[in-house]
Amino acid sequence: MSNLLEIDAIHASYSETIKALSGVSIRVRDGEIVALLGSNGAGKSTTLKAVSNLLPAERGQVKSGSIVFDGRDVQRHSPAELVRAGLVQVLEGRHCFKSLSVEENLVSGALGRGSGRADIARDLDHVYATFPRLRDKRHTSAGLISGGEQQMTAIGRALMSRPRLLVLDEPSMGLAPMVIQDIFRALKKLNRDNGLSLLVAEQNSTVALQFADVATVIENGRTVLSGPAAELRDRADIKAFYLGES
Ligand code: ATP
Repeated sequence: MSNLLEIDAIHASYSETIKALSGVSIRVRDGEIVALLGSNGAGKSTTLKAVSNLLPAERGQVKSGSIVFDGRDVQRHSPAELVRAGLVQVLEGRHCFKSLSVEENLVSGALGRGSGRADIARDLDHVYATFPRLRDKRHTSAGLISGGEQQMTAIGRALMSRPRLLVLDEPSMGLAPMVIQDIFRALKKLNRDNGLSLLVAEQNSTVALQFADVATVIENGRTVLSGPAAELRDRADIKAFYLGES
């Protein structure tokens, strides 16, 4: 498997005094699911923002190290260019346009790529097959659906831009266990059937380690551990030490 994303020893700060990352390295190979684990404030969101070149230019910056997506130095590309290249992110907090319907939200994900109606209709069908609940709610305002359905809508919108690598920041946050299972099962199916690669930051390490092929643990802005998820799953010491779980 070739490397789709390679993050090599990045350092980033939000200001002179706030150093958020000081040596994060992660690799995602084509077709792989990678979990990014770490306790509150470890630097997961900052890492993912750096991957999509979303850190605020005037403050948060990658000072050293490199991030290469499919041969591209991401720091030389705008977030929109990266989306067109297949690197698509679902930010923390299941952002939807609340006054638009579910379907309008989904279609908005296809706008950047200049597709025709037939293509968009086919991709909508694919999203509805992935998340059947969205088909039933397609004419409902995104502000009136449940948190789980909003997360599905945010993921569905990302799928509409036809990612090769989908990056998700805490998709399970605030959702009921059953809904979390539905979402992770759907993501796993996209990985299996469509070869979609995934990089998923999670505080819920139990769920993430069941789902991922590989996991990387960061602590205080630094990669401390990386390996097959199956090996980390049974290591209670790792969970207790790095992830604040008992
Ligand atoms: P969480 O799960 O709580 O989001 P995280 O692992 O995603 O945690 P980050 O949000 O990346 O961690 O935060 C890493 C460090 O950077 C923390 O010390 C945090 O306080 C700091 N930080 C994050 N965002 C900003 C910002 N916009 N301005 C200044 N400091 C920030």
